[in-house]
Amino acid sequence: MESYKHFYSERKHKDTMIPYQLQTLCRSEREPESLQYFLNTLNSENTRDDEKAAYIHVPFCDSICTFCYFPKTLKKGGEVENYLRALKLEIEMYAKTRYISTSKFGALYFGGGTPTSLSSEQLTDLLLCCKESFNFSENAEITVEGSTFNSDEKKLKKILEKGANRLSFGVQTFNDSTRKLLNLQDDASHVIHVIKTACELGCDNVDIDLMCNLPGQTIKDWKKDLQTAIDLEVKSVCIYELTVHPNTKLAKQLQTGEIPPIGSVDFEIDMYLEAVDTLTEADYKQQHITYFTLPKSDHKYVRISIKDDCVGMGSGSAGNIEKYTYSNNRSLDKYIEIINNGKFPIGSGLILSKKTEMEKFMVRGMSLLSINKGEFSRRFGKVPEDVFTDTIAKLKRKGLITVDKQEIKLTRMGRVWGFNVCAEFLPKEYKEILKKISLMQTKKEEETIAQKHIGK
Ligand code: SF4
Repeated sequence: MESYKHFYSERKHKDTMIPYQLQTLCRSEREPESLQYFLNTLNSENTRDDEKAAYIHVPFCDSICTFCYFPKTLKKGGEVENYLRALKLEIEMYAKTRYISTSKFGALYFGGGTPTSLSSEQLTDLLLCCKESFNFSENAEITVEGSTFNSDEKKLKKILEKGANRLSFGVQTFNDSTRKLLNLQDDASHVIHVIKTACELGCDNVDIDLMCNLPGQTIKDWKKDLQTAIDLEVKSVCIYELTVHPNTKLAKQLQTGEIPPIGSVDFEIDMYLEAVDTLTEADYKQQHITYFTLPKSDHKYVRISIKDDCVGMGSGSAGNIEKYTYSNNRSLDKYIEIINNGKFPIGSGLILSKKTEMEKFMVRGMSLLSINKGEFSRRFGKVPEDVFTDTIAKLKRKGLITVDKQEIKLTRMGRVWGFNVCAEFLPKEYKEILKKISLMQTKKEEETIAQKHIGK
C-alpha cells in the first residue's frame, strides 16, 4: 500500500465538516440586521438563470441508529401532523416571495431523519405541495431519502408516481450482524428486495449510502458490501467512514467494550482506497470525495446546492440564498411556533463577505474534486492563487493538489485527505470553532474512545 497516511493528525469527516461549513460561524441568535437582508433578498427579483435547489427536512425516524447524531426524533403521531402543517406553511411562505417565484429549481431533496418514515399520503402530500409551490425545470431531480425498512412497494410506487425520480437509501452495510449492532431494523435480504423493487418500479436513479470502518468490520466484509452494491447496479454509491460522535449509543458501547472496536485511521484509509479502486473498476466515476456514479447518472442536487442557492426548509435545515446563509431553528416546538406566527423560522444567519464567499467556493469546489480557475476569476476577479497563496503552495508541496492553467485538482492522496484539504481554506477563527465543537463537554469521552479504539 502506498504511503498516504499521517498527513494530518486526524481525519476530518464529511459529517463533521459539512454541516458546520460556514454555518457554524452563525450559530448565534437571529440577528435583526442579517434577517432584514434575507427578507430584502426574498422580496427582490432573481435575475440569474442558474438553477436552484431546495431541501426539505423530515426529522422523524422509526428507530434510532446507534451511531446517529443528526437532528432527528422518534416518530409520534400528533407531533408529525403538527410539523407537516408547519412545514407546508413554510414552503408556501417561500413560494409567495418574489425571489422564489422568479427562480427555476433543478433539484429538490427530501432528507432527514427518515422521509420514508412518513406514510405514503403524507409524503405525496408534501411532494405535491412542493410541485405547486416551486417552478421546476423539465429535468428536475427529485430525491426522497429513506430507509429500506419503511419503504414498501406501495409507498415507493406512490412517490414515484407523484414525481420523485431518485431514491436514496441509507443502507450502511449488507452484513446482518453489523446491521443488528447498529440497530438497523431490517436484514440484508429485505434491503436487497426493496432496492430491486425500486428499480422494477421504474426508478432509474437509485442511490445507496455505505459505511466503512464499522465495529468489527474487516476488509473482506467491506469488499463484499461494495460488490453487492455493484451487483445491484445502483446508479450511485456514497461512502462514509464511521465517525464516532460523543453521546451516541455507539460511543458508549465502544467505550465499555460491549461491541467490537473500530479500526485505526490507517485501516480506514485502506478501506477508502479499496472503495475508490473497486468502484472505479466497476465503471463508477468519482464525483465527490465520497460519491461515485455510473456513467450518465447525475446527482444534480449536490452539484447545485454546493455552488448555488439551496433553500433549506424544515426544522434544523441549512440553506443559502444569494449571500445569505442560514440554519432553521432546531427545536420542533420553536420551529412550529415561529411559523404559526407567520415568520421564517431562521435560527441563525450570516451575510457572507466577499472573502467568505471565496472560501466557500474553494471548500465546496474541492469537495467536488477540482476548482475551475476561470469560474473563480469570473466570480471574484482574481485567480485562487492570488487569494490563497500560502495554502495552495502548502497543499501542492504536500502532493495533495495539482495546479495547472485551468484547474486545481485533488490528487489521489488529496482525495484520501479530501475534507482536511477543504478545511485548509476555512478562516482561522472557523477552524477554532470546529475544534471547540469537537471538544465540547464530551472531550473526556472522546479521548477515551480514541485511545481505546482508534489509535490501535
Ligand atoms: S435513520 Fe438516519 S437519521 Fe434516523 S437514526 Fe438512523 S441514521 Fe439517524
